[in-house]
Amino acid sequence: MSAVGSLSASPADLVITGCTVLVHEAHGHHGGHGDHGEGEGVGEGERIGFREEAAIVVRDRMIDAVTTAAAARHVPARTRIEAPGQVALPGLINCHTHAPMTALRGLAEDLPTEEWFNDVVWPVESNLTERDVELGARLACAEMIRGGVTCFADHYFHMDTVADVVAECGLRAHLGETYFSSQGPGAREAALEFALRRRGAADGRVTTALAPHAPYTVSDADLTATAELARAHRLPVHIHAAENREQTDSSLARYGRTPIEVLDRTGLLDTDLLIAHGTGIVDRDLPLLARTGGRTAVATAPRGYLKFAWPTTTPVRALRAAGVPVGLATDGAASNNSLDVWEAMALTALLQKSTEGDPRWLTSRQALHHATVQSARAVGLGDRIGALAPGRCADIVLVDLTGPHTQPVHDLAATLVHSARAADVRTTIVDGRVLMRDRELLTLDVPAVVRELTDRLPTLTARDHGRRVQKYDT
Ligand SMILES: [Zn+2]
Repeated sequence: MSAVGSLSASPADLVITGCTVLVHEAHGHHGGHGDHGEGEGVGEGERIGFREEAAIVVRDRMIDAVTTAAAARHVPARTRIEAPGQVALPGLINCHTHAPMTALRGLAEDLPTEEWFNDVVWPVESNLTERDVELGARLACAEMIRGGVTCFADHYFHMDTVADVVAECGLRAHLGETYFSSQGPGAREAALEFALRRRGAADGRVTTALAPHAPYTVSDADLTATAELARAHRLPVHIHAAENREQTDSSLARYGRTPIEVLDRTGLLDTDLLIAHGTGIVDRDLPLLARTGGRTAVATAPRGYLKFAWPTTTPVRALRAAGVPVGLATDGAASNNSLDVWEAMALTALLQKSTEGDPRWLTSRQALHHATVQSARAVGLGDRIGALAPGRCADIVLVDLTGPHTQPVHDLAATLVHSARAADVRTTIVDGRVLMRDRELLTLDVPAVVRELTDRLPTLTARDHGRRVQKYDT
């Protein structure tokens, strides 16, 4: 697939050369031993491979060619990045977060889920203003660009403000305005209006979803109405569901149905659905999820599960067998403390090994498969991002592996997953535009954001008013 496109025509917008490039290759064209099988079960048949001494040619915001450094040497380019010692990866995708919650990072620590929501987060969120959301989102975008994230799926309030920040900072995002049934039908209508108005914004970098909060905060009638709107307007849906085992047990005790069965009965499993967490997914849910044929995906954000001491994690192995893509995520910084998808990748690999009691399960190549094509699919962009190949969006990160903690390299996949860190990302590119070069952020002013946000924290975090945006009661 190298040298597709016109290498010697008019100047390319960008040529990255001298690096190793992560590529996805079809099964069956290789010796077929070693790191087999990372793709099976989710129906795409790609395997992770690496091309050394390679180059990427970018034109019109897209990847025009993945070729050899030698072939790219004479391609005229407006911008050229020499990247020896670096690996080019598809930009990481944060499949479930609440970007503005960076403003609450570290505010609610060492608490069970119920107290985290009811005593801290939901009271504080009743103070939230558009300006808080804007500053929190700016901080989040800066953190994500620095960590090699090029796309994030956000589920929060004041989403118009988040969309403005995305347009300005250059990231790609999949945005949904959160709603609860307790807010009345107007909230759902506003969320629909947002999704229709902003879909395709920022030169197509913004995609939108309907974002009911969860089956325990949104009634079955409202979930049914959401599914109907999603089908009528061809919108995807992003929702928290079966977040933990307690929610599943409580749903069974109250209604005789698991949260996934609620999604099925309300028609949401007939939409393009992104489920956050799913650590409470149980065996009886799997046939329902399998029937969606990959239209339902799950986002896993393992740090929060460890921190809340949830007894289970996302059942990645069972979901793979059911053909359900699993994307990587951080959730919000109020529970996860960072928006570090690199860490989510390593933790997913480790937690899967530990949970399954099997060191052979979730190899580094499998982790990279989740980080790339499965995450792209989870946010509904499986044909546009998640791979470095001609015709894909030029969402690329360059990772420096010359540091002592990443040398020597015996197994590049293992180096990337278990040795490299977010701070090793040197350059972040979205749609062919460089957002960070050699660790310098080019579109956001972090000190200014932090100064203003810090001034606002006393008002934002006040809880003596006794208000809450919602009550956690599964
Ligand atoms: Zn969440």
